[in-house]
Amino acid sequence: MPYEGELASKASHSDILKNPDIQAALQEFEYLKPPSDQEIQEVTNRFIEPPPIDKVPLPGFVIAIDGSDYEASIDEKLPSTKVGYVKASSVLISLDEFAALRDGRFVDPFKVAKLQNNNSALTFVLPSANIRTPGKTTVRESFRAMVDQQLMGERTRFTEKDYRSSLRTTLFHLASRRPGGMGTDDPRKLKIHTCPTCELGPLTLDDIPDQQVCPNCGAEVYPSDCLRIWEEVNDFQSNLAAINRFMLILEHLLPFHYIRYFKENAAPMMLANMAFFVDGPLAIFGTSAWLHRSIMIYLQDINQHLKKYHLPPLLMIGLQKTGQVVDHVGLIDRFLPNNRLFAIDDNYRYEYILASRDPAKNGFGFETYYGQDFIFKTASGRTFVFGLPYPFNTKDPAGLDFVQEKVKYQNYLQLPRAIRLITHFESDLYKNAVVPIALAHRYTAISLQPGGRVLDLLTKKSLA
Ligand SMILES: [Zn+2]
Repeated sequence: MPYEGELASKASHSDILKNPDIQAALQEFEYLKPPSDQEIQEVTNRFIEPPPIDKVPLPGFVIAIDGSDYEASIDEKLPSTKVGYVKASSVLISLDEFAALRDGRFVDPFKVAKLQNNNSALTFVLPSANIRTPGKTTVRESFRAMVDQQLMGERTRFTEKDYRSSLRTTLFHLASRRPGGMGTDDPRKLKIHTCPTCELGPLTLDDIPDQQVCPNCGAEVYPSDCLRIWEEVNDFQSNLAAINRFMLILEHLLPFHYIRYFKENAAPMMLANMAFFVDGPLAIFGTSAWLHRSIMIYLQDINQHLKKYHLPPLLMIGLQKTGQVVDHVGLIDRFLPNNRLFAIDDNYRYEYILASRDPAKNGFGFETYYGQDFIFKTASGRTFVFGLPYPFNTKDPAGLDFVQEKVKYQNYLQLPRAIRLITHFESDLYKNAVVPIALAHRYTAISLQPGGRVLDLLTKKSLA
C-alpha cells in the first residue's frame, strides 16, 4: 500500500512503467486466470460493516512503540569488524487532559523532528563480527552477556535501585508462564532450554543479579539465553539477523513491561484507559517464537484482572505497514467499498494471500501469532491492516475450534475501540509508516522511558 513519504519508490515505479519496452511487454501479458467479477464479489462479500463507533470513547492515553536497528562496520579491513545497535522508542500520547500532566517541569513536550532523532530512546549495543567483550572468547558469549546485562540495566528499570523493575524481570514474568513443561509458575524463575556451552538442559535460572553457572559444565548462563537469539550469532559474519531478532523481541516485550508496571503500581482504570500500538503483526518468529504463548497467557491474566473491576480488556493494536497481507490489500482495495471490516480467516488467507503455501497443520500462525489480523477500510476510504490479541490464553481452548473461534467478531470486545482509535488517527497513520512519529505529528508526544517521571505522574493521576 503506498503511503505518502514513500514517494521515492513510487516515482521509480512510474519511471519503469514509462519505458516503451516494458509497455510493449505488458501489452503481451495475459492472465492465466483473469479475476472474474464473481471472484471479486466473493472476496468483497466476506467483508462486513464494522460495528458503530460514534458512541465509543477514545482511550485517554496511547503508548506507541517502534524499534530500529543498525549494524556498523568499525573497520574496513578483513576480517570485518561490526557492532550492532538496537533502539526502541516509546512515546506516550495523551488524548485528553494533557494539561493536567504538564503541572511539573518534568514533562518536556516533543516536536516531531526531535522525536526522529531523540537520544532518550532505549539503546542497546551488541557485539557483532569479530568483537568480544573482556573475559569472553567468542562473539556469541559476548553477545549473550551484553543482551542480559542491558535487559537488566538501570535504563530499563522503573526504579533504578530495584533490578526486579527491569525489562529482564518482565521477561521472567512472561517466561515463567510458558506452557508445556518449560514454565515455572513462579515469576522469580525461568527455564532455558539448554546450556549454550555443554547443551545440557533444560536449566532453571533465578531472577537474581549474580552471575549464574551451568551445574554441569560450570560455564556462565544467562536468563535471557531463553530467547535463543544467540543461536544465530557468528564470530566472523554479519549478525544482522540476530540483531534484528532482538529488536523485534524488544518491540513486543516493551508493551508488557509497561503493562506490568501499571498493573503493579497504578489503579486498574489506568490500564483500561490506555491503548498500545506495536509495529507489525502480533507474532514472534524464529527461535523466540515460544514467547507468543506466554504473551497469550499474560494478556489473559491481565484481562481477568481488569474484568474483576468490570473494566474492558486491554487495547493492544499491531499495525502492519508492510508484508503479504498489506500487499494483498493493495490488490483488492479498489474493489472494496468504504466502511468495511474483515477478520482474515485461514481459508481466505491460503486461497488469496498465501496461495503458493500449504496450509499450516494446526491453522495459520499456530507457532507464532498471538493476535488476529483484520483488514479495515474506513468510512473515508483508507485501508488498514491491524491485529488484536486473541481472546484466549491458549490455542487449544476446551471444546472450541480455535481456527473458527479466532475469527468471530463478537469474541473481540475491544474491536469497536480499536476501530474508533484507528479512525481517529487515520490520516496521520496513513501518512507515516512509523506510528510514534505519525501520532506525534498532531499530538504532543512525550518520550517514555521505564524510569521516567512521566510514569510517576501518570500513576499518581490514576490514583487521584
Ligand atoms: Zn553447561
